This record gives sequence, C-alpha cells and structure tokens, in this order.
Amino acid sequence: MKKKKKKVKIKWKNIIILLVFIFLIVFLSIKIPKLIINIFKDTPKQEEKKKKEKKQDEKKEEPEEDTKDQRLKELDNINERIDYFNDSYIDRYITYKNNNPDKDLNKIIIEVNMNLDKEVYENIIPARNLNNEKILVNKYYYLDENYVPDNLVKINQKYALDGMKMVDIAKEAFESLSKTAKKEGLSIIAMSTYRSYSYQVNLYNRYVKQDGKEKADTYSGRPGHSEHQTGLAVDVYNGKEDYTNFEKTKEFNWMQEHAHEYGFILRFPKEKENETKYQYESWHYRYVGIDAAKYIHDNNISFEEYYVRFVENKK
Ligand SMILES: [Zn+2]
Repeated sequence: MKKKKKKVKIKWKNIIILLVFIFLIVFLSIKIPKLIINIFKDTPKQEEKKKKEKKQDEKKEEPEEDTKDQRLKELDNINERIDYFNDSYIDRYITYKNNNPDKDLNKIIIEVNMNLDKEVYENIIPARNLNNEKILVNKYYYLDENYVPDNLVKINQKYALDGMKMVDIAKEAFESLSKTAKKEGLSIIAMSTYRSYSYQVNLYNRYVKQDGKEKADTYSGRPGHSEHQTGLAVDVYNGKEDYTNFEKTKEFNWMQEHAHEYGFILRFPKEKENETKYQYESWHYRYVGIDAAKYIHDNNISFEEYYVRFVENKK
C-alpha cells in the first residue's frame, strides 16, 4: 500500500511539473515575440516621431486660420459691415486692392464682385434671375442660345417700329412712358427691342466684318451677351434724327428726367464705361422695375453696381 501511495504521489508531482512547464512555454511563447518586436520597434523614438507629426499637423491648421484673419484684417474686416462680401473672393479682393491702392475699400469689393478684376468674355457665367426684371446680362454673364423670355408681346405701333416686341411688363411701361411724352409733344419710338440669339449672331458678325472684332466689341454684345435677348432693353429715337444723335434731342432730356419713373434706366451712361464695359449709348434703355430705376437714377450708379449690392446672392 505504502508503495502504491508513493507511486501516486510521484505521478501528481510530475503532472504539476508538466503543467507548470506547459504554462511557462505558452506564457513565454506569447510574451517573447512581443518583447522582440518591441525591441526592434524602438518605441520611444517612434512615439517621438508620432508626436512630432502631430505637432506639425496642428501647425498646419493654425496658420490657415491665422492667415484668414490676417487677410480679413488687411481688408479692414469690411466683411462685418457689408452683406455683399464674398468669402471665396478674399484673395481676389487683396490682389485687386494691391493693384488699386487709391481705391476706396468698398469700391474694391463691389468691383471684384462685378468681376472687373477679370478680362471681359473670360470665365463667363450663366445669367441668373431668368425671366426677372433684375436679370443681369453683360460681358461676364450670358444667356443660352435657346433662351427666349416668357411673355413677349408686340408694342403698340404708335410707339414702335413694326413688329417690336418686349416682355409684357416692360412693354406696358414703355407704352405708358411714350404716351406721356407724346402728350408733351415728344416722340419716343422703340426701334430695336427683343433680339433673338441668332439675330445677334448675324448682327455681331456684320459689325465685326465692318469694323473688326476689337471695335465691334465696344458697341455690340457678342451673341448671348446682349441684353436685347432679355426682352427688357429698348433702343429709341425720335422718329426724325438718327438714333446716334438721340443725345441732342428734347426727347433725350425728357428721358433723363422721367425714364426712371417708368422703371427704365439709361443702361450705358457716360463715365460708367469701366463698369458696363460698353461705350456711352444715349439711346439704349433697360427696364429694371421702378424701385431699382429710381435708386440707380438718384444715386448715379450703374446697373452692375445695383446688381452686386441688391440682387446677387439675395432671395
Ligand atoms: Zn441697344
């Protein structure tokens, strides 16, 4: 019996030793590779590297914020005082300001919004506010070749050459204007109003043939860029003088005083050539609505400026 007991004891001992051994092997087989990996990883250095990278990332973010603030400061934080400041134009504002150091800061913002820092017919933009009396079409904003305004109607032949059409609201206003002038013994006749895209193609090509492209561009819109395509523009004459002499007529003086009361503005005035990009035209009027026409008349600004301040980015 004693012998047997001893045998069993020895067996248990062996099993325990074996178990401990197995445990050790398993434990070490897990731990040792990790230790080896860590030795080769050179952890402290890596951590340092990571820290450095993190710092660099933070630095990258910080200057961007800084420069935006600095750039706004360079513009005297005018963005806080005007609602037509365009955040995405900051670089353009600064460049334009540097190129025009004597210009008033507000004027800088307005002129960049008008795209005056860019060449005409470069980076052209589709006209917005289609079928709206506040639509802007010029050498930066264009109409699609398929654009025909809604509600085109013929003007009463008492006040227009045969077949002249305008958008109904402008047509009503023009007839009313011309009727009142007539009562005062004046004759204000529409001689060119709505013109289709294809009509403008022929007209422009004829002018280019006649005067060359550079000169034609000063007085004629390229196809899609003529506001005659909006149905809101009208060229007038007094039925006797050539329209190019309209400035010398009594009718012109009357228009200067009263056109805005009917919602019309002299669209390409003297001394606004840099903004409209057209030479002065005493015969070309544009319907913009009475509110806008009064404001433009009273403040002596171009429609481009009015558009930037009161129409663009507003709903
Ligand atoms: Zn015209």
